Amino acid sequence: MLSLSERGKQVAASSTLAITAKINQMVADGLDVIKFGAGEPDFDTPEHIKEAGIDSIQAGFTKYTAVAGIIELRNAIVTKFGNDNNLRYKPSEVIVNCGAKHTIYNILQAICNPGDEVIFAAPYWVSYIEIVKLAGGIPIIVETIANQNFCLTVDQIATEVTDKTKAVIINSPSNPTGTIYDSEALREIADLAVDKRFYIISDEIYESLLYDGYQHCSIATFNNDIKAITFVVNGVSKAYSMTGWRIGYAAGPEDAISAMSRIQSHSTSNPTSIAQKAALTAISGSQEAVESMRVAFEKRRDLICERFDGIDGVTYVKPQGAFYIFPDFSDHYSRTIDGFQIKGSQDLANFLLECVKVGVVPGVGFGADKNMRLSFATSEVEINRGLDRIKKALNG
Ligand SMILES: *Cc1c(COP(=O)(O)O)cnc(C)c1O
Repeated sequence: MLSLSERGKQVAASSTLAITAKINQMVADGLDVIKFGAGEPDFDTPEHIKEAGIDSIQAGFTKYTAVAGIIELRNAIVTKFGNDNNLRYKPSEVIVNCGAKHTIYNILQAICNPGDEVIFAAPYWVSYIEIVKLAGGIPIIVETIANQNFCLTVDQIATEVTDKTKAVIINSPSNPTGTIYDSEALREIADLAVDKRFYIISDEIYESLLYDGYQHCSIATFNNDIKAITFVVNGVSKAYSMTGWRIGYAAGPEDAISAMSRIQSHSTSNPTSIAQKAALTAISGSQEAVESMRVAFEKRRDLICERFDGIDGVTYVKPQGAFYIFPDFSDHYSRTIDGFQIKGSQDLANFLLECVKVGVVPGVGFGADKNMRLSFATSEVEINRGLDRIKKALNG
């Protein structure tokens, strides 16, 4: 019968990719759109990393590799976890996937039975919901607010835990809010996970982008009990501006990592051989470029916060990491501006795009309709021009 599966019918497209496509179309049409939609760094991949990719092509490193990633790369990841996170793993506890999104996908495929519950905070990264559902799981979404820094508390999680709870996803620093969990909160969540026996999926893709001197804390570090039930997810996309190369990775319990590898062996097989070589250079080579990008993002973060301070009716939590700010615009809802009726984040995003040609991502896609996500992975000139337009549009 020519009908799609329920899965195929029900999976939603990524709402962030949809608005990005609309913004890009306007740019292609020659319109002067200021883009705050990007979910990726605007910098080029550092030169020495690109060269490693080119060298591997020249050397003929263009064939299948080990499904879980070449051993040199897994060893480099083991070393990275040891040096940066004080976490000791064996290579057999590490897997390389086609981007961290794919890592999370494979984790949920490996651990979820139909009806299993996976808890995470709203505002959330859009893919968590669909990845959980595609694995047959049930997303249990817990609302967090600006006053709690958009971070789940242990009590909020404890209230949701049932005998169906399979995992809790923690994303720190967070996309879309830019906030981070403090280590005491993580320790409490870790203790609960050990006590109630559920996995932690710790999405640490923005680990290297922290501001104001904050240090990254991985929830897996508190003791061996929590380490044994935690997947630490990371990748090269955000830290090294390598989104197109598609390399993510995880460390976690060996039996689950092995299942992920078997699942991967029947879907993508190995991540691209040349991208693995580039990732090896990224992770084991000089980290200077990472720091200079971080410094640039911190300056832009300061600028965009300062500019929002000058706009009435918009509040925000100062981002501590990543490259997003997630202000609350709801004071402007129920207004009609230039004939645009603004009822929620989708309306406001359309208004800003069509009236003043500023592209932002409506918060509704992240489970927070009061808010809008603006990426500051763009130049200071563009941040200033864009915020001039937003101020004019909202404050007249
Ligand atoms: C970008 C992102 C990822 C994954 O990125 P990949 O390019 O697939 O490695 C994972 N989690 C969050 C929160 C992200 O923003």
